[in-house]
Amino acid sequence: MIEARQQTLKEPVCFEGIGVHTGHQVSLVVKPAPVDHGFVFVRIDLEGHPKVPAEVSYVVDTARGTTIAHDDVFIHTIEHLLSALIGIGVDNALIEIDGDEVPILDGSSACFAEKIKDSGMIEQESFRKCFAVSEPIAVEKSGMSLTALPYEGLRISFTIEYEHPYLPEQSKSYLYSSDTFIEEVARARTFCFDFEVDYLKNKGLIKGGSLENAVVITDQGILNENLRFEDEFVRHKILDIIGDLVLLGSRINAHIVSHKSGHHLNVELVKALKKEILKQEGVENPPKKNLMKQGRVLSVNDIQQIIPHRYPFLLIDRIIETDGEKTAVGLKNVTVNEPFFQGHFPGHMIMPGVLILEALAQTAACLMLAKVDKEGLIAYFMSMDQVKFRRPVLPGDTLLLKVVLVRARNKVGAVEGHAYVGEEVVAQGRFKFAFVDEEK
Ligand SMILES: [Zn+2]
Repeated sequence: MIEARQQTLKEPVCFEGIGVHTGHQVSLVVKPAPVDHGFVFVRIDLEGHPKVPAEVSYVVDTARGTTIAHDDVFIHTIEHLLSALIGIGVDNALIEIDGDEVPILDGSSACFAEKIKDSGMIEQESFRKCFAVSEPIAVEKSGMSLTALPYEGLRISFTIEYEHPYLPEQSKSYLYSSDTFIEEVARARTFCFDFEVDYLKNKGLIKGGSLENAVVITDQGILNENLRFEDEFVRHKILDIIGDLVLLGSRINAHIVSHKSGHHLNVELVKALKKEILKQEGVENPPKKNLMKQGRVLSVNDIQQIIPHRYPFLLIDRIIETDGEKTAVGLKNVTVNEPFFQGHFPGHMIMPGVLILEALAQTAACLMLAKVDKEGLIAYFMSMDQVKFRRPVLPGDTLLLKVVLVRARNKVGAVEGHAYVGEEVVAQGRFKFAFVDEEK
């Protein structure tokens, strides 16, 4: 597969409209964002402008649409906008919104996709991340199923089935391409059955619903004037699943085969895929503190024999596990007395991300410099790569710093590091070091 570069918007693009479920009038601005940013919503109507990333761990509801939330900050019905963005080839965007639901516009993704594409996109310096499914991953629930199979590219094969005289069944297989997305998928509108309307209204949903933004199906046909495609319904389900797959945080190479799945099952598949990604990244096996007795354990005094760092810059308290060759686990108790908390930030203490990387690097230096032939050397950073910060580290947290040596030559070493708090990865990255003589 040809590696493609990440893209973002050339300039901000504005939309206005009502939310189909809440009926709220909202304005939304999709803005350019840096490499590896992904899609993040910002509620500009709320104090402090809280953010909600479009990631599967933030999904809180999947009834008639996908809702994400962080604490009490909600964004409803995100899927059509996300589908439009990823569909036309956008990878990074900041989405400012002044309400709690993305506007429904005409019930499809076409307005979003066309306007953003017309205003232009720019290529960014990094390549896209793409997760290639290597073995089948399946989820199912009460007669519905959804499977991701190994495939070169992204294909979605969808079948819908209803016990309904007008719409008993529809199937379509779509090979994704940003060139065909608007024409073949984005224009398909959302739909519901006439007998559902009262039920949904009673549940407090579809307050903004109308024939302007949804196709309504009766036993005899549709209430709208016409369909955009004969198989518009199944095309819309493909649109929805493309939007929900965005929550994976990575593009995907797979053949997705769906039998009647909706947002709930789509999100379940994304969770299963995410688990597989974390497993492949080696993130799913956090070190266990009770392994302290295994291997060689270095006290803070031992550590100071190996690396030259001292207060306030010695950022590991001990090495709790090491095979002396390829792996080491350092431990750092983060207390309220850390000098950096004074200024980072007053009244809002967060350990600087770069210091977590430094702590990983010090753990790696302990591993590599403990060898006899490296005595008297200091390790200098040469590069950092694939760095990610996943969660803030706060006073009271115990950092476990797991490093794995991936390459070691005489004067250069490369390690992969993951920092954990409990079972959760808080930061990760790949580092290269050069070993230099202390005297020089
Ligand atoms: Zn939809």
